[in-house]
Amino acid sequence: MIHSQLISRGITDKFVLDAMDKVPRHLFVPLDLQEEAYDDRALPIGENQTISQPYMVALMTELLSLNNNCTVLEIGTGSGYQAAILAHIAFKVYTIERIPTLLQEAEKRFIDLRYNNIFTKLGDGSKGWGEGLLFDRIIITAATPSVPQVIINQLADPGIIVAPVGERYSQSLVIITKDTKKYGNTLNTQYQTPCIFVPLIGKYGWSD
Ligand code: SAM
Repeated sequence: MIHSQLISRGITDKFVLDAMDKVPRHLFVPLDLQEEAYDDRALPIGENQTISQPYMVALMTELLSLNNNCTVLEIGTGSGYQAAILAHIAFKVYTIERIPTLLQEAEKRFIDLRYNNIFTKLGDGSKGWGEGLLFDRIIITAATPSVPQVIINQLADPGIIVAPVGERYSQSLVIITKDTKKYGNTLNTQYQTPCIFVPLIGKYGWSD
């Protein structure tokens, strides 16, 4: 997976490659799909949701430009795999999921694999985490029509958001940088690549 799917497609960040090498992806998929866990595709995880393709996980993580001081918010815990990758590199990871059974399974994995820098919450992540916290990095792992202002307000300065933005069934990966010293009060927005994610369902996402 590391060479044939990631390095060959241009992933170079050694922290990302190391995390992708270490996190046991087969423990984040249903038992009957464990043999396919390292295939070059997204897989179903129940509740009509998916664990993203390994390359997409690596690309989004690389685009966050993480370091070990970063506090990260992930919206869309799903299986917990992306959160585990983030937790290998960042200081703290907060992750929010709207489907209780998926969150419970992910929490069990975090305990079994002894991740002690991942904090979880059940709720509508289209509103962000709340509680007045600010995050150095925010990753949205479900498709959103736009990045809600309430989430932008929870981004530190400087800070980076990576999210699939667009229509319900096709999006572009967008990188939003908040850095008032560099860009003033304007957010720097870059479009990376086309992608397809399951929808962000919630107050500032799509309706159920
Ligand atoms: N990051 C996940 C992983 O590593 O397995 C994959 C995420 S999956 C593509 C998208 C997830 O976003 C689903 O689990 C879905 O239930 C969740 N989701 C959708 N809308 C949400 C919302 N408003 N708040 C929190 N989670 C949401």
